[in-house]
Parts: sequence; C-alpha cells; structure tokens
Amino acid sequence: MISRPKHSGASLSSKITSYPGKEITGDDLEAEKYLSIAYDADLKYAWTAGVGISRYLDGLKAGTLWARKCDNCGRTLIPPRMYCEECFRPTDRWVRARDTGRVNTFSVVYVNTDASRRKNPILVSVIEIDGASPEMGILHLLGEVAPKDVKVGMKVKAVWKPKAERKGAITDIRYFKPLK
Ligand SMILES: [Zn+2]
Repeated sequence: MISRPKHSGASLSSKITSYPGKEITGDDLEAEKYLSIAYDADLKYAWTAGVGISRYLDGLKAGTLWARKCDNCGRTLIPPRMYCEECFRPTDRWVRARDTGRVNTFSVVYVNTDASRRKNPILVSVIEIDGASPEMGILHLLGEVAPKDVKVGMKVKAVWKPKAERKGAITDIRYFKPLK
C-alpha cells in the first residue's frame, strides 16, 4: 500500500499569520529605536542598443534611415532587425530607406504623458517608410497639418532637425509633414 502524506501542499495555500522575531513598526523608526542611514543612490546605467539599432541611430544622426533586408522572405525591416522573426534566421543586408512614407494609422492626442489635458492636440502616427516593406512602419509625429486634414495613406516626408542638433535619436526627425 502506498501512503501519501495528508494535506500535501497545505503550507503553500495556508496564509502565514505570524513570523519569528520582532516586527519593526513605523512608530519605532520615528522614535529612532533603530539605527538607520539615509542614502541617495547615485546609480548610473549604460546599455548597448545592439548592432541593428546602433546603425539605425547613427543613421538618424546623419539624416539617413537604415533598414535591414531578409533575402529569404524578401522583407525589408525598419527599424532594422538583425534577425528575421518570420524566417527564424539572420537578416542579410543593409538597405537605405527613404525619408518619405505613408500614414498607416494615426491618433489625435489631447492628453499628455502625465495625463494632463492638451489645448492643441498632437498627431501620433505609424508611418510606412518608403523603401521598407508594406506595413513596416515607425511611430512618429505628424506636423504642418490640421487633424481634420490627415488621411490614412497620405504621403509624408520627414522634417529633420538641423545636423548640429541631432543626437542619434528618433527625435532627430521633428515630425513628418504632408508631401505635396
Ligand atoms: Zn525573413
């Protein structure tokens, strides 16, 4: 006969109601019953953007949009990826995309990131970049256009910051404006 322990797993499901030792209360701390140290942590972090995004960011600084081509499925990816998630293999080549594209979708945004209201909305859009595969887009702002005049499929062009102000960031492009 096999004997099984009774209530196996009971210790995981039952709530712990008491801990050994003495609990430190907020009142104890305020009464300075315990030694404590106030310390401002001055932590600095650095991380690498990786091979693909590093070249993409360098390109933005130089006023160029770089994409990555997969010769297996024929897709051109932007932002560039060194690995094709469709084919499960490394991508093959760098391709220079253009700084023009089409509005894939957009939102008229009246709320700031801190949830405060905006008087004048910003236009946030996914832009399909010319030279990359269809539906391969980047998220950016639209400018020099009224919300009522934005249309899906509208041709747009990047408005770059002056070269001296660029930092190798997506904000090196100020916004995309309608291409007439
Ligand atoms: Zn592929």
